[in-house]
Amino acid sequence: MLEVEHLAVNYRGISAIADVSFCLEPGQIVGIIGPNGAGKSTMVKAILGLIPSESGIIRYRSRALKEQLKQVAYVPQRSQIDWDYPTTVWNVVLMARTRHTGWFRSHSRQSKEIVKAALERVGMWSLRERQIGELSGGQQQRVFLARSLAQEAELFFFDEPFVGVDKKTEAIIFEVFEDLKSQGKILLVVGHDLGETTRKYDRFLLLNKQLIANGSRNEVITATNIQKAYGDSVILLQRGEI
Ligand code: ADP
Ligand code: MG
Repeated sequence: MLEVEHLAVNYRGISAIADVSFCLEPGQIVGIIGPNGAGKSTMVKAILGLIPSESGIIRYRSRALKEQLKQVAYVPQRSQIDWDYPTTVWNVVLMARTRHTGWFRSHSRQSKEIVKAALERVGMWSLRERQIGELSGGQQQRVFLARSLAQEAELFFFDEPFVGVDKKTEAIIFEVFEDLKSQGKILLVVGHDLGETTRKYDRFLLLNKQLIANGSRNEVITATNIQKAYGDSVILLQRGEI
């Protein structure tokens, strides 16, 4: 179980998220939703200890998460990754194995098998020699999905994985999510649209600086909650523009 208690983050004295508390059970795909600037990425980074928090206790299996970051795979928003960095698809995924192998030892045959399986799983094996900057948005997202698989983590965080990806990639991502769920992993997925794909999630956290709702699709995606979180942009939502 992942437990987050009273998480708060300020940027230069201004509150970005406040008093966020929730618990998640294994074997769930959890959607993190809320308008732009709601603090979704901030919450994920704070849970992972990538940015400092004002307060908050994060536990996984009753122990501090920061002492077991090996259990975590994180795929940031695609826009935050430096795609000009000169490296290949293969190397990006192999790097995920470094924490298993250590920096100064060569990667084991087993690690290479795991990388190969991950690339095959997302349909990127044939492009393994390609520079990452020469891939489409969907292909880039699949490389980072493979990288997260190669980490053999228990907790997975994906920040807006569906932005700028094609339908084929979207289908592969959801297939992999289902696999991970059936293996008892916990997946936290920052989403941006509230359309049909919301059916693929087991529960939602609706955020706008505070946690506005937490529960099943029917409990969270209600007119009242959406109005609370999105305010006036709720009109756009009804028109299907969000
Ligand atoms: P979301 O991911 O939901 O769109 P973010 O977590 O990126 O929201 O941002 C939440 C708020 O914090 C926004 O108002 C954003 O401008 C602000 N913010 C995000 N990162 C920083 C930062 N590094 N420094 C200052 N303010 C930031
Ligand atoms: Mg974000």
